[in-house]
Amino acid sequence: MNDEHSRALYDRALSVMPGGVNSTVRAAIEPYPFFVQKGDGGHVIDADGNRYVDWVLGLGPLLLGHDLPEQVRAEVQRTASEGPMYGAPTEIEVDHAEFVVRHVPSVEKIRFVNSGTEATTSAVRLARGHTGRNKIVVMQGGYHGAQETTLVEGDADNPRPSSAGIPQSFSEHTIPVPFNDEDAMREAFAKHGDDIAAVLTEPILCNYGIVYPEEGYHEFLREITDEHGSLLIFDEVITGFRVGGLGCAQSEFDITPDLTTFGKIIGGGFPVGAIGGKAEIMEGFTPAGDVFQAGTFSGHPVTMAAGLETLKFAAENDVYDHVNDLGDRLRRGLTDIVADQAPNYTVTGTDSMFKVIFTRDGPAPSSLEEQCPAGCRQDPTCPRYDYSPKNAADVKNAETDRWRRIFWGQMKEQGVFLSQNQFECQFVSYGHTDADVEETLEAYKQAL
Ligand SMILES: *Cc1c(COP(=O)(O)O)cnc(C)c1O
Repeated sequence: MNDEHSRALYDRALSVMPGGVNSTVRAAIEPYPFFVQKGDGGHVIDADGNRYVDWVLGLGPLLLGHDLPEQVRAEVQRTASEGPMYGAPTEIEVDHAEFVVRHVPSVEKIRFVNSGTEATTSAVRLARGHTGRNKIVVMQGGYHGAQETTLVEGDADNPRPSSAGIPQSFSEHTIPVPFNDEDAMREAFAKHGDDIAAVLTEPILCNYGIVYPEEGYHEFLREITDEHGSLLIFDEVITGFRVGGLGCAQSEFDITPDLTTFGKIIGGGFPVGAIGGKAEIMEGFTPAGDVFQAGTFSGHPVTMAAGLETLKFAAENDVYDHVNDLGDRLRRGLTDIVADQAPNYTVTGTDSMFKVIFTRDGPAPSSLEEQCPAGCRQDPTCPRYDYSPKNAADVKNAETDRWRRIFWGQMKEQGVFLSQNQFECQFVSYGHTDADVEETLEAYKQAL
């Protein structure tokens, strides 16, 4: 594969951008990332004209793939041509808010912002303002954007910043616990219950290999937060309008969080975030309440048009059937290939998300009969159950170097673009086809 142009572009980029990129994960590809020239359905074409089946999809936002359906494209272009933005409210913001409130039962009111990071930052401030408490419980390894409260590592007794530039004293208000671990959560509440403003978690860990919750875990979180007067915040920046269709993951798990953060799909491929939830809590935001929140670009008309038209298109067409069906076929196909060629590895994902985690812990299960057929569900009767990753530490333990340095490049050589490391999620779009699935499964067969 020729990559001359990408190499030259990265050379130029290194002179003027830190690490040569505008977002860290893009540089995870070694020795340098390919630069994208354009998209085409479920594919991207790079600066040297190489074509890849694209399972990265902008890291999540592109539910419909790279070709926007005519009705979406027309609304985006019409809105942009009328003038970029105003600093005064527009009708399309109300339309989009009404759509979300109609489809996501826990959301009575919503505020649009410009990124998932901004959404989780504002949700945390709102939870602290609403409860008058300081501490936020998060899942170890969970990702909620590039913000001070959640860039933490360590454990409940020793939280510390996971990035330079964050005072240790900030991290003291964050309590990281392992996902799927009820005892650790009980302990955190026993120690700090009166000062816990919220538990903040993705309903499925999607930024750490895709880890599915154990049966009953979310019910447990709902109960323990209620018991202590803390809020439950679902970060649905990835799962929102992807898992569980228009009702989001919370409808699939039948859980009502107090607040939900959105991003990615809700803006149809343009910069976006949103915080939604119970009216009584949402009214805490200024100007209704006293938790300050503002943004020059918030509710940007072009973003609102792209997001709303994308979701309307999904509501009126077979989008979720299509992407979930292809996702299912990928996971089933991968489960067979892994059983054959790499029985230690674990296929994860649900709906239109998929991943193979290079689980290291041998020995492999002795029989794979009756394993979860289409992605790990943490089913205790599955022969793989004892080996399947249940939290971020388990995923971190996997063969992350083999995944990125050996396996990823072999997939790229075969024209398949997978997420830049072992941790990020992979997605299916409406633009993908049966042929893309077949080609990808064949490539996995060669590369694994
Ligand atoms: C991507 C992501 C974010 C951050 O969103 P940005 O738009 O990149 O700021 C927050 N939470 C989750 C779960 C995400 O996947």
